[in-house]
Amino acid sequence: MNKDIITPPSSTLGMLGGGQLGGFFAEAALRMGYKVAVWDPSESAPAKRFATHKFNAPFNDKNTLNEFVSTVDAVSLEWENIPVELVEAIQSKKPTRPSSRSLGLAQDRTKEKRFLRDNGFPLSEYQVIKCASELVEVDQELPWIVKTATMGYDGHGQWRINSDHEKDQMSSQIKGEGPWVAEKVVPFDMELSVVVIQGTDGTCVTYPATENIHENGILRMSICPARIDPSTELSARNLATEVIKAIGDPGVFCVELFLVHPNQILVNEIAPRPHNSGHHTIDSFSISQYEYQVRALCGLSITQPFHIGNTVLLNVLGKEATELSQVGITNLILKTGRARIYMYGKESVRPGRKMGHIIFSGGNIDVLEKEASEALAIISDQ
Ligand code: AMP
Repeated sequence: MNKDIITPPSSTLGMLGGGQLGGFFAEAALRMGYKVAVWDPSESAPAKRFATHKFNAPFNDKNTLNEFVSTVDAVSLEWENIPVELVEAIQSKKPTRPSSRSLGLAQDRTKEKRFLRDNGFPLSEYQVIKCASELVEVDQELPWIVKTATMGYDGHGQWRINSDHEKDQMSSQIKGEGPWVAEKVVPFDMELSVVVIQGTDGTCVTYPATENIHENGILRMSICPARIDPSTELSARNLATEVIKAIGDPGVFCVELFLVHPNQILVNEIAPRPHNSGHHTIDSFSISQYEYQVRALCGLSITQPFHIGNTVLLNVLGKEATELSQVGITNLILKTGRARIYMYGKESVRPGRKMGHIIFSGGNIDVLEKEASEALAIISDQ
């Protein structure tokens, strides 16, 4: 497919996956004059609230593929587990960004890590194991995190191994299809992420690094700009840009990083799509990561955004959404004047499920972090 095709406003943009990221993409696209077709097997997927066309079939449905392709002018995605074969079939007919190349890398940790290692990017030590019994043969220093190569998210499909005893136990307990990656635990000072946008002409733009705080493998809070010195910040942005240039695919990407004392930065993983830690860009920059997804997809200008202000993002997880939906609680949080609530419209509540987020802006980071922590204490009912 020709990389130079420009898709003008009033065209229909296809979105594979209908989660909150697809929803924010659709809002940006509609604002800019596009129509949006969302394909997701769930009829109640959040992004369908903003869709002009809705496709509900499983991703392997051939009739829907034909109908989808004839409806849309260009296609993007919001989930790394969209089948690569589906994206290959679509990209042979319509501009698709990112392409199956970056999707294939991000979908399989073994490929992603090999790509990073082969290109000389710094990453944690790891070994690939094809079946659980091979775990006992891994000869790198403990502790490790063992991760499924595919379909892992938000800490699912990950186990920590601290001792030889746990290694033996785990080798008989891990079930399911391999391979897995046994990765050395990185004693990081901070987790960072950098959203990188690559235009069809190779132009790359980055946002400042965001500082991420996880709980049980799930993102809890994101602080932007990260509280790091300017040279570390520059190194993080440069490293993330180099990774995306090496992939060479247009689109929006997020590179997750570990900052290790005194000044080492390791790449953890790459998302070939906007990222939870970049939601704040709707409020804190002149151009959001979702508008960039539209721009990169459609071949529109990719230019550096202007910073509006600091933000702290608080994810609303599981039943915290039910707590937050009570008027008294909502009002308590809104009263600060700094909070903007974004709820995704998900019908079922599951523990740890990302149901929404709150952005705190309009002050220095310490004030915003304090307000976010207070809001968390309120909604988590502590
Ligand atoms: P991942 O799915 O690989 O992004 O892992 C989810 C979270 O688990 C990360 O954001 C970290 O908080 C933690 N984690 C993953 N891999 C490692 C590692 N090698 N060392 C330390 N923490 C890790």
